[in-house]
Amino acid sequence: MGSSFLVIGSGAGGATVAKELASQGAEVTVVEKGGMNKLGTSWRALKFYSGSFGPGEVSAEGIELLRTIMVGGSTVVTLGNGVRALQTELKDAGVSIDEELEEAERELRVTATPKNFFGTRTKILRDSSIELGYDVKPMPKFVDFKRCRMCGACVLGCRYGAKWTALNPLGEARRMGAKLIRNAEVEKVLQEGGEVRGARIRDASGVHEIDAQKIVLAAGGLGTPPILQRSGLEAGEGFFADLFVVTYGLLDKRGMGEEIGMATIIDEFHENHGFIISPIMDVKLDMLLSFPLSKKSIAFKRDRLIGLMTKIADDSSGRVLQSGRIEKSATSNDLKKLEKGIEVSKQILSQAGAESRSIFVSKIRGAHPGGTAALGKIVNKDFETEVSGLYVCDASILPRAPGSPPVLTIVALAKKLGSKLMAE
Ligand SMILES: Cc1cc2nc3c(=O)[nH]c(=O)nc-3n(C[C@H](O)[C@H](O)[C@H](O)COP(=O)(O)OP(=O)(O)OC[C@H]3O[C@@H](n4cnc5c(N)ncnc54)[C@H](O)[C@@H]3O)c2cc1C
Repeated sequence: MGSSFLVIGSGAGGATVAKELASQGAEVTVVEKGGMNKLGTSWRALKFYSGSFGPGEVSAEGIELLRTIMVGGSTVVTLGNGVRALQTELKDAGVSIDEELEEAERELRVTATPKNFFGTRTKILRDSSIELGYDVKPMPKFVDFKRCRMCGACVLGCRYGAKWTALNPLGEARRMGAKLIRNAEVEKVLQEGGEVRGARIRDASGVHEIDAQKIVLAAGGLGTPPILQRSGLEAGEGFFADLFVVTYGLLDKRGMGEEIGMATIIDEFHENHGFIISPIMDVKLDMLLSFPLSKKSIAFKRDRLIGLMTKIADDSSGRVLQSGRIEKSATSNDLKKLEKGIEVSKQILSQAGAESRSIFVSKIRGAHPGGTAALGKIVNKDFETEVSGLYVCDASILPRAPGSPPVLTIVALAKKLGSKLMAE
């Protein structure tokens, strides 16, 4: 078995690179650890959210980290938020993605969330924020609002095909001849004389080797470093996850239905304080699994509940080991950012009419794992590692935590790599 290009992982980075390469006639094989899954309910989602207990992996220090193992990767469960993240930082590191971001925005059809798609909570929180003098913007989303039913279940995978996911470029790549091998885990990359020659994969039938002239590793911020480490390369330090909490409160008003999460954004604190604020509510099963015992009953009062997420650009202080063990805690700097965001959120919730004794803050989680094979450290400006022909193109190469949704940037980076590889 062999291919000119082997792409490991079919998420934001992998599927996009595969499409770019296949569209220019390259022979491409994508190897994906996960399978195809039915979407749209919590029970189904428990199958593909990675982690042995509940919908996430947990760091040694107790921080829950969300990602999915499935065809399409974590893009399948996004909220569709499409913003330009780290554009300046990447330029400073010698990688300009201005053109690719524009192309990505066109291709993913990024558009500001229309006001008629704001749910009741979003409107209440928007109005209260404006009364307090905050600048509330509609969130740019890669969502086809003609198909969106406002069910609020984006994080369970969209049943209506309204959201862009990596399944779109992957499908295009396959139509142009790319092969997909799914339910197959890449263990390590094989090299000879400093050059890549293939990969070792494990599937239900055993362990196999697959030849390749070039490999693009795109197994995500948590998946990529163990593969690099097993292949004899350094990786895994500098781990970030865009840590977040949700500050909740109960209103007297009843009967609020489900709605699109993160339909608006307050980003005025991003530059100086490193956080964004956006309205959101966890899904019911997640509340039952992850809320403290004293708060679990709130899952049954959803029609009165309002929540604001504080998402921070956390320190690159964690690491991912070859065994898969994740070490990640919130540093004092991270806690300061979270506290400031929580303070603003509480102020907005109170303004909206939430009783102060009903207000509580969820535990710290992260959903944007990255930084573990960072640009300038593990990969060079061409995203190539010290092994010739071995590239990395996923959230691992981001130089620092974006503190905002990274998909658009990862897609832009993958477009850049695709063009570079084909130009060679
Ligand atoms: C609940 C949630 C909501 C989010 N919402 C947004 C949002 O609205 N906007 C946004 O920009 N970002 C969002 N994100 C973050 C975004 O999904 C990720 O940052 C992005 O998908 C990362 O892309 P990636 O290519 O690094 O990894 P992924 O997209 O996760 O792809 C990695 C792929 O590699 C596969 N893989 C892993 N290990 C192996 C292996 N050993 N062998 C083969 N394959 C392997 C995985 O199964 C996966 O398919 C969200 C994340 C979560 C969890």
